[in-house]
Amino acid sequence: MPILLDRRGFLAASAGFIALHPFSAQARAGQAHLRIMETTDIHVHVFPYDYYGDRPVDTVGLARTASLIEGVRGESTNSLLLDNGDFIQGNPMGDYMAYERGMSEGDLHPMIAAMNAIGFDASTLGNHEFNYGLPFLMNSVAAASFPVVCANVATEMAGSAPADTTLVPPYVILDRTLTDGAGETHPIRIGIIGFVPPQIMTWDRRHLEGNVQVRDIVAAAQAYVPQMREDGAEIIVALSHSGIGAADHSDMMENASVPLAAIDGIDVVLTGHHHRVFPGPDYAETPGVDVEAGTIMGKPGVMAGFWGSHMGLVDLMLERDGNTWRISSHMSEARPIYRREEDRSITALVESDPEVLSSVEAEHEATLAYVRAEVGQTDAPLHSYFALVADDPSVQIVSNAQTWYIEQMMAGTQFEGLPILSAAAPFKAGGRGGPEYYTDVAAGPVAIKNVADLYLYPNTVRAVRITGAEVREWLERSAGMFNRITPGATDEVLLNPDFPSYNFDVIDGVQYQIDLSQPSRYNNDGEVVNADAHRIINLTFQGEPIDPQQEFIVATNNYRAGGGGHFPGANPSTVIFEGPDTNRDVIVRYIVDQGTISPSADANWTFAPMPGTTLLFDTGPAAEPYIGAVDGVNIEPAGETPEGFARYRIAL
Ligand code: MN
Ligand code: MG
Repeated sequence: MPILLDRRGFLAASAGFIALHPFSAQARAGQAHLRIMETTDIHVHVFPYDYYGDRPVDTVGLARTASLIEGVRGESTNSLLLDNGDFIQGNPMGDYMAYERGMSEGDLHPMIAAMNAIGFDASTLGNHEFNYGLPFLMNSVAAASFPVVCANVATEMAGSAPADTTLVPPYVILDRTLTDGAGETHPIRIGIIGFVPPQIMTWDRRHLEGNVQVRDIVAAAQAYVPQMREDGAEIIVALSHSGIGAADHSDMMENASVPLAAIDGIDVVLTGHHHRVFPGPDYAETPGVDVEAGTIMGKPGVMAGFWGSHMGLVDLMLERDGNTWRISSHMSEARPIYRREEDRSITALVESDPEVLSSVEAEHEATLAYVRAEVGQTDAPLHSYFALVADDPSVQIVSNAQTWYIEQMMAGTQFEGLPILSAAAPFKAGGRGGPEYYTDVAAGPVAIKNVADLYLYPNTVRAVRITGAEVREWLERSAGMFNRITPGATDEVLLNPDFPSYNFDVIDGVQYQIDLSQPSRYNNDGEVVNADAHRIINLTFQGEPIDPQQEFIVATNNYRAGGGGHFPGANPSTVIFEGPDTNRDVIVRYIVDQGTISPSADANWTFAPMPGTTLLFDTGPAAEPYIGAVDGVNIEPAGETPEGFARYRIAL
């Protein structure tokens, strides 16, 4: 019989010709193929649906991943399906359940309903399981028809890990029956243990402080693994809701999968949290990791992307060894639900499993109503047509939400009390995106789905600690958005066409003016090119000139804090907080918390006056009704451009 692998194997399976995996085909008496399937970081994505865009998509959905399962099971004699955590939070269906419906004792969370329908063997907790508080979490997992384990979160901590009272069982030993190559059945005891980043104590302090404590992932594993062996575990699978990071262990490290894999007695490491794919090129340079062999410290491992994008597969060839089993060979694979074509279009590789869809149909419909319903009111329209010429409400609301969130995250830390500033840029502001490419939310009701328009990218929140001098340089870098304007000149063009608007950071919490008569201090690569030029003038904090020595916290996103745009002060060395939450989630939470939003800009930045000078500024034609409402800027129509932008004249 021909052995078909990978996608060909799947296609053959879906067409009804299931090709056995080579391990299942080759196994002889006393040998057995055990296939371990992983889903991770599903984040409530059951339907292949983008609730923010309010449209179906082919890139997400556990209903899609689940339909891989039948074929995957068909290829192998013995299999196990495990989830690696981050299942109850991360899309509007999760928010709908938490903010609208709530979870009382006995309620069934749609994510659990879907997982029950699919038939998981076990799961662990991800950091996002804690986002809605412990009662919500415990009521959710109570209805799971599979064990949920986590070894490093304790409601009562003892002197050493095995004596802790853990929030959920630290591990489970699954008694299963293996069919070997000769068709004989044998019992096997498979140990499943789970871990979550200890950083949950910071990320969800308001829910967790005083209720639970955490242990280091590696320390907890070292304590429990010998006990699992004593309990009879023949194979131990670690559900590591932790990324593939440094090879060297450091206490309380967030991404601990590599040192975890190194622990004696752990046989397989299922990873996640990073939202990446392993085996895959993302980890080609990572010490301790072999992307060809699919191993982490020599142990088979996998990371199945996120939102249901992949099914992770670890195939083990097991061999009888006395009266137990040992792994004689292994393979790892992350099998996708879609393919991105060369023209960037998406081809779905599977259809949704109808049973999984129907298990959450009612909540899906309710979520559609939720994302389309009013969550707040805005008195003024939220648009970005003038975000590059005046402080703008669409940018202000992002900064307000970021500041609100980072204030909570800094409470109780060594950074509490440092002033918090916030950097945010207009992402949709014309340019190469074209004349329709602007944020435009009408005055009146604001719906959840509008938040995607306010925050385009799925960035996560970060904060850096920098000096007043660096705040100034950050703003100088931003001010490269503009061409140099000659004082007294008529109709010079304002915007530098090579400068993307997402690099025009406005920093809230300080006040400043931009002097367009100066050349830009920085070029588009973030290099100082005019060392004597200073566009940022009258930079003040709390009404006083900013102290170049004073320390500030600046709330931003992972792109900027990771060095995106090469902004002075924004790089990994200044990062003091890495949030697990997307900026978009933070905006939704902020709106829910405030009940209503009044996103008026605080006009903390303006152009410095240049009497007798006019300049031309292009924006979307739909800006026309709003030109009277831009505070402090004198604007009049000046035609249109060949590309279809509306042109306006600004008098400085
Ligand atoms: Mn996640
Ligand atoms: Mg402002």
